[in-house]
Amino acid sequence: MEYIKENLERIKTEIAKICDKHKRSTSEITLIAVSKTFPADCISAAYAYGHRVFGENRPQALRDRFVEIKEENISWHLIGSLQKNKIKYVVGKTALIHSVDSVETAIGIDDYCRKHALSQEILIEVNTSGELSKMGISPGQLPEILEKTRYCRHIRIMGLMTMAPLTTHAKTIKNCFAMLRSLRDTYQKTLPTLTHLSMGMSNDYALALEEGATLLRIGTAIFGNRPEAKAFHA
Ligand SMILES: *Cc1c(COP(=O)(O)O)cnc(C)c1O
Repeated sequence: MEYIKENLERIKTEIAKICDKHKRSTSEITLIAVSKTFPADCISAAYAYGHRVFGENRPQALRDRFVEIKEENISWHLIGSLQKNKIKYVVGKTALIHSVDSVETAIGIDDYCRKHALSQEILIEVNTSGELSKMGISPGQLPEILEKTRYCRHIRIMGLMTMAPLTTHAKTIKNCFAMLRSLRDTYQKTLPTLTHLSMGMSNDYALALEEGATLLRIGTAIFGNRPEAKAFHA
């Protein structure tokens, strides 16, 4: 599985180049290898090369990875939607939950953590494209979710996440990323932990980096194409 190592190297070189151009430090960027639907040996191959940060989009898939993957010191990220009844599968074992998109889920995570003496770092997913197929709160709902979780002591809201629309029109994609950054800049004034921007996937991570992304979620560019059917339900 030499290709996984080569892909990781190529992407890291690319990230370094873009950071250099935009006067950013590569130390502020985390590359999350999105391993969803790929077999465990793909994860092991990336791990052997030194990669330690992986992402899954389904809570059940992540729960299965905790058992299946024996390698230590992996930082697991949940990047897909989380229903209240699946909180128990992931909370406390996941470095970061990117995809919290309701007050109910945020408070559900906080409740679960309080009962189990845990704490959990999360991001709020924002729908910056207005596409109905996209998850996330609308930008206008952000103040409400931040206000209603103000006294949640067991979650820490570390930033925002978004997905750009599927288009080749770079300007449209950049506008989404710029909007997320602008929301972060605005609400960071009242919530200082709001620092991270999770945006950028295989096809648009260069644009995301230019707009200030700190967390890149990259799957196919590292592991290759996902099996058709599963990829669609991602
Ligand atoms: C699958 C997925 C990714 C990675 O997509 P690629 O195009 O394979 O890089 C990123 N973010 C989310 C939320 C995903 O579900």
